[in-house]
Amino acid sequence: MHVSPKRKVKIVGTLGPASNTPEKIEALIRAGLDTARLNFSHGTHDVHRALFKAVREASARCGKHIAILQDLQGPKLRLGKLPPEGVMLKAGDEVLLYPEGTTPRSSTVGRIPMPISAEIAAPLSRDLKKGSRVLFDDGKVSSEVKEVHAPEIVITISVGGKLTSNKGMNLPGSPLSLPGCTDKDLLDLKLGLELGVDAVALSFVRTPKDITFVKDLIRKTSNHQPLIVSKIEREEAVYAPEGILEVTDSILIARGDMAVELGAQKVPVIQKMLIRMSNELGVPVITATQMLESMISCPTPTRAEASDVANAVFDGTDAVMLSAESASGDYPVISVETMVKIILEAESEAENYSVHRPLTPIHGSVVDSIEYSASKIAAHVGAAAIACLTHSGTAARSLAKYRPQNPIVAIMDNPASLRKLAFVWGVDGVLIPDIVATDDLFGMVSKVLVDNHRAQDGDTIVVTAGVPTLRRGTTNMIKVHEIKIKS
Ligand code: PEP
Repeated sequence: MHVSPKRKVKIVGTLGPASNTPEKIEALIRAGLDTARLNFSHGTHDVHRALFKAVREASARCGKHIAILQDLQGPKLRLGKLPPEGVMLKAGDEVLLYPEGTTPRSSTVGRIPMPISAEIAAPLSRDLKKGSRVLFDDGKVSSEVKEVHAPEIVITISVGGKLTSNKGMNLPGSPLSLPGCTDKDLLDLKLGLELGVDAVALSFVRTPKDITFVKDLIRKTSNHQPLIVSKIEREEAVYAPEGILEVTDSILIARGDMAVELGAQKVPVIQKMLIRMSNELGVPVITATQMLESMISCPTPTRAEASDVANAVFDGTDAVMLSAESASGDYPVISVETMVKIILEAESEAENYSVHRPLTPIHGSVVDSIEYSASKIAAHVGAAAIACLTHSGTAARSLAKYRPQNPIVAIMDNPASLRKLAFVWGVDGVLIPDIVATDDLFGMVSKVLVDNHRAQDGDTIVVTAGVPTLRRGTTNMIKVHEIKIKS
């Protein structure tokens, strides 16, 4: 039997109109999708409910443990409803931003009124000053504040263009006193918890408090405990990530809004810095946005896009993400297949080009010491796999931190914990009915690996577990074992 090399870097794909049927979702999973992202900036609760169900059913048909990531919109500033044909703006135009549903109080002579929601009008007019920058539609249209007459703001357009309803707004350099979680986010989160999403992404995180607020809320109101993924895109988070990395379960490098807030030229260095810091702490990191952007309308990537995905692999990312490519593009499945090919090619050269730095275990942590040692032993003995018996997945996450080249197989008995490893580098999960103490522990592990095509008779494997009881949080043992299947 041939055991094919497993891809280490995982793929997160956003679902949308181009990928919203059971057949399309199944095709994405078969192509290599590991995590399905439900983007709550778009779509109704009914749409997301249907997508959730379709992903769980397609995963079962494919025999894969796909995670579902609920991405909350967060305090994203948006324009209100504009005429269907949009509003054409040119440099020098004066524009009045005023709360939707009100009659503009300031004179609109020579100004183009543009509604914003009442929820954001008050903090906006409080926090913006003369000269503050206001960008629209991912920075395609830019302006400067001329004067503020709370709750209305007059801006002067510096780079013109066409604006349509609901386009996003960014205020680079202006710390906004908006809540981290909007009323919409709270309603969406309630749905996510009811459905049982595996992870929740928080947009525009600024401080660790934004994360602990949501974690506390979930703990108090639900038995379901999803992972929290913090999207790093605002200046406050980019330049003070340490506190965020301490409390979050994972981060997502949201290069789209980050580029608008800070300038595209800053993104590559910030990406490398965030990946390095996350790797050192063992916090899984997802690199996102425009990775294969041209594949929205073309079946092949640009050379720059292929390099971008490969470079994220070399930087040490745990996962890469598709947005519009899989949600609304013409080639969602080919986009996933393309990512798989680029990742595998890059991984075949990881030894030469990966920037991953050798880490040492956290002082005093038994699980970290065991998994660190297991990664070293596996390399020395050329193990076919490192089998990690784990209830919660913590041991597998710790092992992944040391980036062993030998396959990591997490043997688990809890499907929800297993799905939470779907954006952790290199971890391949196998579900068994129960992890229970047995006299022939290594025989059991060997059989699981062989039955699931992760190893074959005669292979040397490295096993980590918590003996004698195999209870939660007890990892304390490493064994080098030769598989001998009794016939
Ligand atoms: C981003 O800004 O890069 C991002 C991933 O967030 P969203 O898709 O919600 O804009």
